[in-house]
Amino acid sequence: MIGIVVVSHSPRLAHAAVDLALEMVGANGPAIAIAAGAGEGVTGTDAFKVAEAIAEVSSPEGVLVMMDLGSAVMSAEMALEFSDDPDLPVRLSSAPFVEGLMAAVVRAAGGATLDEVESEARGALRAKQSHLGDEDPAGLPVDSGPAAEHTIEVVLLNPDGLHARPVSMLVTAISAFEATVTVANLRTGKPPVPANSPTALLTVGARKGDTISVAAAGRQALEALEAVSDLVGTGFGELENTSARAPVSALSGSQPEAPPSSVAPSSGPLGVSPGLAVGPIVRMQEPVDEPGAAVTLSGREREAAVERIVAASASVALALRDRAARVSGAARGILEATALMAADPGLIDAAVDRVTGQGHTPERAVWAAVGEVASAFREQGGLLAERIPDLHDVRNRIVSELLGRPAPGLPDRVEPYVLVARDLAPADTALIDPSVCRAIVTVEGGPTSHTAILARALGLPAVVAARDAMDLPEGSVVIVDGTTGEIVVDPTDDQVARAEEQVSREVAFDGTGLTGDGHRVQLLANVASPDSVAAAIEAKAEGVGLFRTEFCFLDHAEAPGLDEQVAAYRRVFAAFPGKKVTIRTLDAGADKPLAFVTAADEVNPALGIRGYRTAWRRPELLDTQLRAIATAAAAENADVGVMAPMIATVDEAVEFAARCAAHGLHNVGVMIETPAAAVTAGPILDRVDFASLGTNDLAQYTMAADRLMGELALLNDPWQPAVLRMIREACQAGMAAGKPVGVCGEAAADPMLAAILVGLGATSLSMSPRALGGVAEFLRGVTVAQCRDAAVAAVAAAGAGAARSAAAVLLQSARV
Ligand code: PEP
Ligand code: MG
Repeated sequence: MIGIVVVSHSPRLAHAAVDLALEMVGANGPAIAIAAGAGEGVTGTDAFKVAEAIAEVSSPEGVLVMMDLGSAVMSAEMALEFSDDPDLPVRLSSAPFVEGLMAAVVRAAGGATLDEVESEARGALRAKQSHLGDEDPAGLPVDSGPAAEHTIEVVLLNPDGLHARPVSMLVTAISAFEATVTVANLRTGKPPVPANSPTALLTVGARKGDTISVAAAGRQALEALEAVSDLVGTGFGELENTSARAPVSALSGSQPEAPPSSVAPSSGPLGVSPGLAVGPIVRMQEPVDEPGAAVTLSGREREAAVERIVAASASVALALRDRAARVSGAARGILEATALMAADPGLIDAAVDRVTGQGHTPERAVWAAVGEVASAFREQGGLLAERIPDLHDVRNRIVSELLGRPAPGLPDRVEPYVLVARDLAPADTALIDPSVCRAIVTVEGGPTSHTAILARALGLPAVVAARDAMDLPEGSVVIVDGTTGEIVVDPTDDQVARAEEQVSREVAFDGTGLTGDGHRVQLLANVASPDSVAAAIEAKAEGVGLFRTEFCFLDHAEAPGLDEQVAAYRRVFAAFPGKKVTIRTLDAGADKPLAFVTAADEVNPALGIRGYRTAWRRPELLDTQLRAIATAAAAENADVGVMAPMIATVDEAVEFAARCAAHGLHNVGVMIETPAAAVTAGPILDRVDFASLGTNDLAQYTMAADRLMGELALLNDPWQPAVLRMIREACQAGMAAGKPVGVCGEAAADPMLAAILVGLGATSLSMSPRALGGVAEFLRGVTVAQCRDAAVAAVAAAGAGAARSAAAVLLQSARV
């Protein structure tokens, strides 16, 4: 492959352009070296850097140099004079910087020659020019190659048609074959373009639903067409349901064999917390970058810089105090403590000294001063080390203020809004105020990530894995559908009215879970904190099937004391007198780190010290918690059960039951969320009173798919037959032992899957309160025998989509 050098005045511009281009080719891109900036933090170009970059990516195939403007060209020319390898073919490209770089990277990744890549880059404006109606796009002839021997016509299924990513996939796929391939869009009737040219392919302007004609000639023409058909048929991996395939029609010449059905799951935006909401977008601000150290202030500038530091820290402290005054509980304490840090005279003096003594810019001075304090805290360890994240938060806020940027983190607003974020840490999500935040949209995250779970607990519609969400303009109004994952930008008045009407039609639960033929299934609520109990009661939950205690302490730097725990648990127990409340001991670690127990340096936290395993290291935490639960249970009238998360062995179950007994707790259970626990559910249930299936983790561990990764959401699906088999194993063990086995993972909240769980033998279903109405209504429409038949069909299905379809055929038809 040829090498590529990117010369720019701005390192940030260069890195961003390279990142964008590499997104098109993933790990298969050419070697790229950047020569940007004229020194630490200084805008400009430097011929020596360019020469070094050329040497770094030199290849016998040659090097293409892409430049932004002005002196970039001169620096590149000068760099050629420094070259000590006169035979190295190096070409300076006149191509547009961003489009040219994308085109060059894609074409180079396909193994094209230096001439081909250069020509592709020069024509890179074609798509834009053709789209905007320029008469002679780039003035470059498009050669559609020799006469085609084989042709297929395929319909584009993916939502955005032939945009940059599918185009690069097509170019890369075709480059593997000895074939000349062309593509034409039958809707526009324009002449075919060569399929090895990303820029030409972009001019095809093919949208979802368009039929494209793909023609190929050459020794491997059929193989190339098959590859194209496969990519188009699976929607370039951009379809939610990859079992749908594009129809292939009107073949001429020999017809390629139908490609095998898709095996590469991928996902678009996913609705993970039901409901509709309308509101303006507010983006969660990303943290600031470390300010450069290159600039030294003159004597005259230093005085003003000092004043700016003082003013910025005062303004940050004031904003934090204001915000603290508007919230209550733990959030208020955190905000007040952070406000104090922002106004800390020691910190301000340390920053001021750096300005007056060394001429640092105010933002650099603050960054460095906080860095020094953080190192001292780190050396001290213990509680001081736990304050480092707060220090960094203060630093980021003051630096943002100095740079005139909005404060990082959750927006501080009193008007309703839709929160858009790249990702949300559990602690961020816990601080969201559901009275102003209408919905959550994130770029990352899966259906069982804690963003999703907390959104459901807060009753907020949420969509995750919305890859382009951060590109949505701040302030534009959107309708967010947390069920389908659809996000409508700038809706019409009609659309808003329809959405509002739909919200008013949500089904209510009458408080008793039953199938149509009277089979009893308790429908319970998952709660995350005493504050979320109100929603469970309002939804008429029959009790609590999962009280996630760790969510009460997400913002704690130190372990909660006995009294604090007793008070929190009592509030939940008191809300359900005479009713079942299943409380889970701390499930810290992996996706729910707790500062006081989770190690920050685990290589593989989901497989590490989390859940019950934290008691290996900190047995006293579990004992204090069990004592608090026993005390709270004795003081209230709830029917309390206690269970441990992430059990993997019979020995752990035995040990947990013994520890509970030592505290006078007798209704003891375990969560089945590892395949190990599912397949040994029999012997486990011999030692405890009940089990509860955590299908979120059970899916993660059965499918070996990180529950936080939106990209893996289709694997991380409780409809996967492998997961259903695990559930069946555990339920059968429960039936054999005559002990209850419920489900408290998110699977229980999917009405049709709830019926399958009942068919598999689950005795109770616990879910976010909002889901109770829908699940109850669905169960009332089916008999337990139909649930069992559908469960047999779903377990026997070949994949998650097929399991869903089989269940739908048996259950939906039963309902009419
Ligand atoms: C689960 O894993 O399904 C579960 C209920 O536990 P959590 O989601 O809190 O890990
Ligand atoms: Mg779990």
